Amino acid sequence: MSLTAALDEAAIAALNQRFEVASPEEIVLWAVEEFGDGLSVGASFGGPTGMAILHMAAALKPNVHVFVLDTDYLFEETQETRKRATSVLGLTNVQVYKSKLSHEEQSAEYGAALWMRDPDLCCDVRKVEPNHRALESKSAWIAGLRRDQSDGRSDVPIVGWNDRFGLIKINPLACWTEKQTWDYIVKHDVPYNPLLDQGFVSIGCYNCTVPGKQGRQGRWEGFEKDECGLHT
Ligand code: SF4
Repeated sequence: MSLTAALDEAAIAALNQRFEVASPEEIVLWAVEEFGDGLSVGASFGGPTGMAILHMAAALKPNVHVFVLDTDYLFEETQETRKRATSVLGLTNVQVYKSKLSHEEQSAEYGAALWMRDPDLCCDVRKVEPNHRALESKSAWIAGLRRDQSDGRSDVPIVGWNDRFGLIKINPLACWTEKQTWDYIVKHDVPYNPLLDQGFVSIGCYNCTVPGKQGRQGRWEGFEKDECGLHT
């Protein structure tokens, strides 16, 4: 394990203790002040959690680095939400990262419809590798994990060192429920993906997302998988 000079294990433990009873706005403010231009916000423009975080971050630092992983399999509604939210929230530094492989190149290398045979590999190619590039010069990453989203996320820390990407990872809404998140969206009139009004709860690639399921159960139906590999 390697930690930053400023945040060793004891400092991270103290922050987690403090943030368990802090508001997400306070946590985002700390992140902006602590990391400045070294901070990056990951956004899918799918679920409500990321939209609430973007609203909080934009109010403090409109030019915060926001990164989007465009797998080439995103819903049109997700693309439209990115454009609309970027404008409404006044975000000026939203960057899109794609796989190095096109659809055709992926099919040539791994065979057609890889997501139906090996979704872990497909996520590695189209999400995990671009995520590394998005964060390669950053020191902290704000993500949108909540503890109530799945069993695997039930103990997600608010602040932690992330070995895989080599930086501090922050989940400001870790302690919030789905209802608290939606209350914030409604109160602040935050733009959100219209698919969330059509029975979708967690939205990723159209190949691997179905409506009408709770939590992350609508992702990768038929597979023992509920994470794309960015958060595991
Ligand atoms: S969510 Fe599905 S289509 Fe998207 S990258 Fe992962 S396996 Fe591929």
